[in-house]
Amino acid sequence: MRILVVEDESGITSFLKQGLEEEGYAIDIAVDGQTGLEKALTENFDLLLVDWMLPRLTGLELCKTYRKENKDTPIIFLTARDTVQDAVFGLQAGANDYIRKPFHFEELLERIKVQLRPVSDQHGIFTLGPFSLNTETHQVFKKEVEISLTQKEFQLLEYLIRHKGKVCRRKKIMDTIWGMDATSDSGVIDVFINALRKKMKIQKDEEYIQTIRGVGYIARES
Ligand code: CA
Repeated sequence: MRILVVEDESGITSFLKQGLEEEGYAIDIAVDGQTGLEKALTENFDLLLVDWMLPRLTGLELCKTYRKENKDTPIIFLTARDTVQDAVFGLQAGANDYIRKPFHFEELLERIKVQLRPVSDQHGIFTLGPFSLNTETHQVFKKEVEISLTQKEFQLLEYLIRHKGKVCRRKKIMDTIWGMDATSDSGVIDVFINALRKKMKIQKDEEYIQTIRGVGYIARES
């Protein structure tokens, strides 16, 4: 697996290079946004790790331009900014996840693994915290208790859980689950999400299904 690190702080790049190489990843480094974008567009990487504040081109601009070229390699933002709004800007620009500096290497590694993990399907059973979803029997359980879902609720939950740890964009969800029936008003997703949270008895402080305003949803192990 090959990762491009776009970061101008040499302390961080050498720390990342050493740590990630020890984990078996091949690391390329670009020290400014423009070089990073050019490398990302002309070479093959499995993941981009992009700092927000960069010389020549910001991480945000890099991300937007890269996505405009229809490139879908996962991007994780490194950011010192810590307001929710900044994280949303990053995700809106096309990043798949973000991590705030300073971060623990283990946490970054975990997030990288989530992005690179192939969609796993162990006998059709997917889990999220106390929930398990069986795509073969179309059953959902919270621990041992079965939860009754409608067809569309099931499809929506399956989609989110299959993409656990990754941002699911509203439009993608609409296209995948509602397809030809999709109207321009994606407010219908919110209705179904609320129904799911209610049926799954997800508490307010639990983040199993998290809303990312203006972007979509993400299923996370709380
Ligand atoms: Ca920087």
